[in-house]
Amino acid sequence: TAPLLQLQNYSIRFSTPDGEVQAVSDLDLAVMPGETLAIVGESGSGKSQTFNGVFGLLARNGRTEGQALMAGEDLLAMKSRDLDKIRGRDMAMVFQDPMTALNPAMKIKRQLSEALEVHKGLSRRAAEAEALAMLRTVGIPEAERRFNQYPHELSGGMRQRVVIAMALICRPKLIVADEPTTALDVTIQAQILDLFRDLTADFGTALVLITHDLGVVAGIATRVAVMYAGRVVEEAGVDDLFASPAHPYAAALLRSIPRADRDIAGVDPIPGRPPNLMNLPTGCAFHPRCRHATERCVAERPPLAPVGGDRRAACWHPFSDAPQLSVYDAGLDS
Ligand code: SF4
Ligand code: MG
Repeated sequence: TAPLLQLQNYSIRFSTPDGEVQAVSDLDLAVMPGETLAIVGESGSGKSQTFNGVFGLLARNGRTEGQALMAGEDLLAMKSRDLDKIRGRDMAMVFQDPMTALNPAMKIKRQLSEALEVHKGLSRRAAEAEALAMLRTVGIPEAERRFNQYPHELSGGMRQRVVIAMALICRPKLIVADEPTTALDVTIQAQILDLFRDLTADFGTALVLITHDLGVVAGIATRVAVMYAGRVVEEAGVDDLFASPAHPYAAALLRSIPRADRDIAGVDPIPGRPPNLMNLPTGCAFHPRCRHATERCVAERPPLAPVGGDRRAACWHPFSDAPQLSVYDAGLDS
């Protein structure tokens, strides 16, 4: 099958008073129809900017290069009027703070039904009926009463459900959710992730889940792309990545999260800090933090290359399954 969205030679630069910042470098990444792809990385890795750029939401000093093809059309080359039509109808974005998507002065009813009137040409009555049904679908109790309320009358978790309803209402092919549960408490987080998983499966919607927390992707994603310093450093099926990461950074991320099958003493934070994008390390940008760095890593940047199966990693010394265990043990000892 053809990808739903394909990023090719995709880069993002910001011009700042201190010079050019390359936030995303030469990405080649595909989102397949109906899949859930997690984009994982620390803050500043370029994971949010990548999709802000696709949606035409970069800050004014930012610009994109390359292509972002959706159904053969390059979103980056589109006039903003045409992109507006696609946003909300074919692809929608969900952010960390539901209030960024909600109008505080508008009843839930209007927020939900407006898009149906604009994008689908429904009458107000038909749009409101469909909106109410969608509010039930996202699991809001007493939907009829909530329908006539304003956002501030709802809890944070309920607001995020409303935003998910807004994202889904026109049945888009793609939803991009940027840290959609980070602002919510842990119980609600799990409920919202379950909702994403169930509804994207029911509707056949592809989901790109952007998160700094590798721990949330296990139950929901099919594939994971790990980003570091504006590049994808590993791309793999979620089970493969969890079982045996090929890239030392992906392995370090995995060691840094608490897991049910490991007690808390096994949590091992990644040493050092994410690099300064204005002054990237030479060669592999991860080398100052990598236990396995060699002279070659300092001198030459590794390309993203196949490492067996459907996996790709950008590393001169990727792990195979066997040494992975000893690396984990070494991590605990050091
Ligand atoms: Fe570490 Fe070298 Fe691989 Fe970079 S290329 S992750 S420094 S082993
Ligand atoms: Mg972000």
